[in-house]
Amino acid sequence: MAQKYKGTGSKGEDCCAFCGAKRSDVALLFQGMGGVNICNNCVERGYQMLSESELTADGRKKKKSEFEMSELLKPHQIKEFLDQYVIGQDDAKRYMSVAVYNHYKRLMSRADNRNDEVEIDKSNIVLVGPTGTGKTLMARTIARVLNVPFTIVDATVLTEAGYVGEDVESILSRLLQVADYNVEAAERGIVFIDEIDKIARKSDNPSITRDVSGEGVQQALLKILEGTVVNVPPQGGRKHPDQKFIQVNTKDILFICGGAFDGIEKKIAQRLNTRAIGFGVQEGSQIDRDNLMKYIMPQDLKSFGLIPELVGRLPVLTYMQPLSVEALRKILTEPKNAIVKQYERLFAMDDVELQFDNEVLDYIVQKADEYKLGARGLRSICEAIMIDAMYEVPMSGESQFVVTLDYAKKKIEGSNFLHLKRVG
Ligand code: ADP
Repeated sequence: MAQKYKGTGSKGEDCCAFCGAKRSDVALLFQGMGGVNICNNCVERGYQMLSESELTADGRKKKKSEFEMSELLKPHQIKEFLDQYVIGQDDAKRYMSVAVYNHYKRLMSRADNRNDEVEIDKSNIVLVGPTGTGKTLMARTIARVLNVPFTIVDATVLTEAGYVGEDVESILSRLLQVADYNVEAAERGIVFIDEIDKIARKSDNPSITRDVSGEGVQQALLKILEGTVVNVPPQGGRKHPDQKFIQVNTKDILFICGGAFDGIEKKIAQRLNTRAIGFGVQEGSQIDRDNLMKYIMPQDLKSFGLIPELVGRLPVLTYMQPLSVEALRKILTEPKNAIVKQYERLFAMDDVELQFDNEVLDYIVQKADEYKLGARGLRSICEAIMIDAMYEVPMSGESQFVVTLDYAKKKIEGSNFLHLKRVG
């Protein structure tokens, strides 16, 4: 190792001044001034250290929020990723992919410090559609593809500060928690606010009395959605005077709101009808009455009871379709972490090969459809079928387990699952 900083080894052969490797032992040896050499391995290692360090290639301090344009997935790549996990919902996927792409472009354009006065607006998203159609799954998958902190909050537990319930700031406490209190990471995260429709104003009239769980919460959300610095109680819960706060800036946090907006089709139909009378519908333009959701517009959210300011802060509006029987069937087997694949994995860990007969899968879908349980029901029906097998098989010493239609029917009929659902 004595020759480490010299350019030659003991026999006069050139060697790397960093690791001491001889020219004959490496692919390349670069010669520097004064006969000092460096080998390709050390160059590579140096590059790696630089990219992992806090510095950019030209020596500037790297900002954590800097995204490389080349690293950013393009909308169709984001959609392809979503396709691996979410069945159908093509319109929503396209909207989401573009919104997310623009959101992170916006971050980059600011990190570039471009003073060209064009500031890209935030593209918070609202997903409207029946429960169990994949809204949460979609938001979660987007966070996964971007590898950013993600949290889900339920709008129904939020109340205006000072009332019983959770302050709106608690949303950010959770984001901080999932980001391991890395504020910079949290500030680029994604928050999914579920059941946003439940904080709608109860009537179209702005009320004189205060509406604790409705309009007040909408008001409280406005600033956070738009972008503001919030004092966040690190452990969540209520703020109290002697607590330390962490400051979180929400301007780069992407908010995705989801809600079933039950009955919104009526508002859409009303609007479409009014238009038909007021402005006349162009001849030949047929309204697809069975799928009114696809005509949803921001003003429908207002008619439903979201305040205009809130609607204005959710500029990307898209909808989720009810799941067809075919979609339910695909959900069982096709997504990357499909339910059936999960059971197969669980059994494989006990060295048991699990097989479902095709009729079993059709039967599960039929039951979910019959009892109007949607995609969420698939899991509980599977669980009712598989529970005994999961209990017995690990000790049975068998190497294969086949779920037949007879077996599945027996388990379902023997369980109180469907009985309970029917009563409920
Ligand atoms: P929502 O948020 O719309 O109420 P979720 O995203 O929570 O619905 O869906 C519940 C479960 O149903 C998910 O975890 C997933 O297993 C399944 N699911 C629902 N919709 C889809 C879909 N389009 N593709 C794949 N799985 C789905």
